[in-house]
Amino acid sequence: MSSFIEISEVGPRDGLQSIKRIMPLAAKKAWITAEAACGVPEIEVGSFVPKKLLPQLADTAELVAHARSISGLKVAVLVPNLRGAQDAIKAGAHKITIPLSASETHSLANVNRTHVQMLTAVRDIADLIKTLPADERPFFEGGISTAFGCTLEGTVPQAKILELASALMDAGCDEVGLSDTTGYAVPNHVVSLVKAVKAEVGEQNLTGLHLHNTRGLGLTNVYAALDHGITTIDASLGGIGGCPFAPGASGNIVTEDLVFMLDSTGYETGIDLEALLKVRDIVTDALPGELMYGFVPDAGLPKL
Ligand code: ZN
Repeated sequence: MSSFIEISEVGPRDGLQSIKRIMPLAAKKAWITAEAACGVPEIEVGSFVPKKLLPQLADTAELVAHARSISGLKVAVLVPNLRGAQDAIKAGAHKITIPLSASETHSLANVNRTHVQMLTAVRDIADLIKTLPADERPFFEGGISTAFGCTLEGTVPQAKILELASALMDAGCDEVGLSDTTGYAVPNHVVSLVKAVKAEVGEQNLTGLHLHNTRGLGLTNVYAALDHGITTIDASLGGIGGCPFAPGASGNIVTEDLVFMLDSTGYETGIDLEALLKVRDIVTDALPGELMYGFVPDAGLPKL
């Protein structure tokens, strides 16, 4: 098994969407440029959602264009529906993720769509992608959100996750991912669900996890998953965005702490951690007073 772990920076999307203030476009571009220069291989630069819903992410098309000009960087975006996917393809995103909430209650509350409606959208997007020349097709991921539990429904049965994972692949996704939207995941649950989903859809069709650090178990959950064929981990610089359920807790896993853990335990990330720590200034300068999390940034790197 390869020891290279691909870190996908989701701060410009997941982080900024949960902060009310709007980061200026120039700062977002500087952030993306600086993080790519540190060796971060993939950045989720935004989400193609109506401007009215998330004005913080209204400049996603410009960010895709900017990020595409950075050599070697994989440019990822989130889309909620076919319209979003059309915009993402027009902009030239390399990777498109559509979130499908395992909890149908959550799906209805969030995007007002049932599972059947969401799967229809997935099929439509997959069909659209197939019409493109092979070398212009974006990678298409179905991200199962609330996979480890839902604030509205509570526990989501594993059978439901497996059914949806299988349905996403049948509908034309290239891969499925699992998201701990609510920060409910614990290590043994991560391992058992990863194993079960891989057994359902195939070893190579689940390689990524999107975990939150709501209850402080983000890195522990990552570490548990590394032994089970997970090779892509989402994280956000400074864990920005916070967590609405747990004041003082970061939202996503902190990228800096994740790089530190992986580098120190024999994995490779290709990321220059010292340089990455300096990128925080770009975010802090653009959003003064916004809380930036992370133990390594606070404590510094150990003396070698
Ligand atoms: Zn998230």
